[in-house]
Amino acid sequence: MAWFKKTRKKIKAPAEKASRVPEGLMVKCPGCAQILYNKDLTTNLNVCPKCAHHFRMNAAERLRMLFDDAWVEYDRGLVSTDPLGFTDTKPYKARLKASIEATGLKDAVITASGTIDGVRTMVAAMEYEFIGGSMGVVVGEKIARLIERAIESRAPVVIVCCSGGARMMEGALSLMQMAKICGALARLDRARLPYIAVLTDPTTGGVTASFAMLGDLNIAEPKALIGFAGPRVIEQTIRQKLPEGFQRSEFLLEKGMLDLVIDRREMRSIIANALRFMGAARAEPVRAEQAQLAQAGATAGGADIPGSNIEPRA
Ligand SMILES: [Zn+2]
Repeated sequence: MAWFKKTRKKIKAPAEKASRVPEGLMVKCPGCAQILYNKDLTTNLNVCPKCAHHFRMNAAERLRMLFDDAWVEYDRGLVSTDPLGFTDTKPYKARLKASIEATGLKDAVITASGTIDGVRTMVAAMEYEFIGGSMGVVVGEKIARLIERAIESRAPVVIVCCSGGARMMEGALSLMQMAKICGALARLDRARLPYIAVLTDPTTGGVTASFAMLGDLNIAEPKALIGFAGPRVIEQTIRQKLPEGFQRSEFLLEKGMLDLVIDRREMRSIIANALRFMGAARAEPVRAEQAQLAQAGATAGGADIPGSNIEPRA
């Protein structure tokens, strides 16, 4: 029996006063401290109109930005089974459930096919809101399957990376995804199909150490954090002060780690141009031409292959 039992009620915290501005209507730009309307920001692809600061984007917004119109999503139902029964501050199963509810996705990547400025392309877009965009078994499997689909249908691949690295809660299994995806990319390369890696803020850990750096073109968004280990860990290890702008896109471009740093608003047209340069043809016109030729009873030229938008090179 407790002798000193508190019977009084606890002091209540004062109810929060209703903010003048409804939440989510305005946002302060971390680049120039300008207060921006969320709606203006969305129409500008989440880029600050004043200072071009690039806000983060979710995976669905990425696909909307890249594709001309609707896209076909693959392997939507794949979900992690928690193979290790892992628990840190909370069980991995609970983390998965919370992320699934918060994002509406089953894991940290959406894989889809559609057309980018007329070029039929397989695109994987990573979702940072889903456990830090971490790469577990599902992310690895979905990307590997996407690449295999690309090889089958002779389409180029674009992967939009946004990740904290391999997923700790799946241990060595998530590390194996690095090799699996790299293996698939090697087959894509042997099939002479282009792959473009788009690195966004942040791209770190096992993702940087595998497919993010393997593009025929590695394109980054301005001022994105790109690295393997974090700057603090490096500083403590080498006991040296790191240079200004270390691990940011511009710094990496200067050091030859990247091919291009591109404003998000130009990303779509530059990717489409690059794919065309690397051999991809416009999807619809080719098909339309073939249909016309078929109707006219003529035989199509040797260059185009049915169901393909990339000509095999010798
Ligand atoms: Zn700004």
